[in-house]
Amino acid sequence: MQDLMHFMNGAHVEGSSGRFTDVYNPATGEVASRCPLASTAEVNQAVQIAKAAQPAWAATNPQRRARVMMKFVQLLNRDMDKLAEAISREHGKTFPDAKGDVQRGLEVVEFCIGAPHLLKGEYTDGAGPGIDMYSMRQPLGVCAGITPFNFPAMIPMWMFAPALACGNAFILKPSERDPSCPIMLAELMEEAGLPKGVLQVVNGDKEAVDALLDHEDISSIGFVGSTPIAQYIYGRGCSAGKRVQCFGGAKNHMIILPDADLDLAADALVGAGYGAAGERCMAISVAVPVGEETADRLIEKLVPRIEALKVGPYTAGDDVDFGPVVTAAAKEKILGLVQSGVDQGAELVVDGRKFAMQGYEDGFFVGAHLFDRVTPDMDIYRQEIFGPVLSTVRAGSYEEAIGLALDHEMGNGTAIFTRDGDAARDFASRINIGMVGVNVPIPVPLAYHTFGGWKKSFFGDLNQHGPDSFKFYTRTKTVTARWPSGIKEGGEFNFKPMD
Ligand code: NAD
Repeated sequence: MQDLMHFMNGAHVEGSSGRFTDVYNPATGEVASRCPLASTAEVNQAVQIAKAAQPAWAATNPQRRARVMMKFVQLLNRDMDKLAEAISREHGKTFPDAKGDVQRGLEVVEFCIGAPHLLKGEYTDGAGPGIDMYSMRQPLGVCAGITPFNFPAMIPMWMFAPALACGNAFILKPSERDPSCPIMLAELMEEAGLPKGVLQVVNGDKEAVDALLDHEDISSIGFVGSTPIAQYIYGRGCSAGKRVQCFGGAKNHMIILPDADLDLAADALVGAGYGAAGERCMAISVAVPVGEETADRLIEKLVPRIEALKVGPYTAGDDVDFGPVVTAAAKEKILGLVQSGVDQGAELVVDGRKFAMQGYEDGFFVGAHLFDRVTPDMDIYRQEIFGPVLSTVRAGSYEEAIGLALDHEMGNGTAIFTRDGDAARDFASRINIGMVGVNVPIPVPLAYHTFGGWKKSFFGDLNQHGPDSFKFYTRTKTVTARWPSGIKEGGEFNFKPMD
């Protein structure tokens, strides 16, 4: 069996802690490789390397740094299939979906090619008599990122592309469940011309994360993952004096008003609820039809669509709708929550509990589930399931529907389906959630806008990608300059011998 490595100082480095964790092929359930788990000493070594490499990178002018990003985009396109295959193999998502994972990261790299423009400072000419004032954006130094399993290409790129474009060094601690793609990204950055040691990948678990959080030479921490860990990292990182942004879990509601196009809404719900087996922080996990008649018609349209979903391994072709979940533990958790829904009185309209994937009986496949008549006190409503399970909460009115989303502790994304512009406008204005879709089920903003939730889905101030990322990965210095009046007798026109 293959042992994976770290990527430090431009080279693949074996783990020296003696600790490993198994990486699975979720489609077969087999252990595919072992991922090394770094010790504090290994993390400290990476920080030392990054600290030594960063000043020269920061001194490289922004346009040259942007050229590395340009080349990186070319290489990502060249190796798209290879990267997507590595993602599907360890994560389980379908091949087209894995390409989407790379593509949405690549788009942020494209945005970062604009770094010279985004890093331009501000200037006030004549702020006082003979005084000019200017502000410049300077890199933070050594930054670190801790990323989740569900987007092993996109989220690392959302972090390291702006960090590097701003002149920082970056240490990535990717998810230990699918660590191959992040290493490939670091190799490609080096092939694109990034100096050694500026981007490193250190695999690990809590020990490596804590070492990064406590290290005095780490200036900032970016985290994406579940809410309890986000909260922990935010607290510990901030108290260590770092700049920290932590993106957490989700429970995204989609509200369907009686005037909505229900075929459109049902298609949207099936894609947003079951795509990637529900393992997306922007997945829709709660459908809120308004009125009994809307609910009955919606369920009627959803059931055949859900029953027709094709589940399978990524090798089974591009028409597979979703693959297995990431681990046996994830499968167990999802099925446990489904059981709690049944026990607490929700109506299981589509029951995927007995689903078995022929030929892949040991894989971590979970069938699609649809619940109706879910109420806010149930565990399946309160908790993030992160699986192919959609819950329907019937609301009597628009106010009741918006109230559900307003009151839920998570606030990552939400959507409203309606033909009523006034209702959509009211919803977008009043809702306390970071990303809102109007007849769009998964409103992930494009690279030049910013991504981030509210409430317990986000701890910090500045969002991911877009202009916010250039603020997060730089700090401002403002210079006030007065130049004493010089000698102004004009130019010398006569050739004079040197004194
Ligand atoms: P996770 O919280 O288990 O792990 C995320 C990272 O934290 C991993 O790198 C992991 O090694 C590390 N980690 C885990 N336990 C730790 C601990 N005790 N101390 C320190 N570090 C620890 O999350 P996951 O299962 O990999 O990802 C799924 C979660 O991520 C879901 O909750 C999902 O909603 C969320 N997510 C959020 C966003 C967003 O932008 N808001 C995006 C993607 C995923």
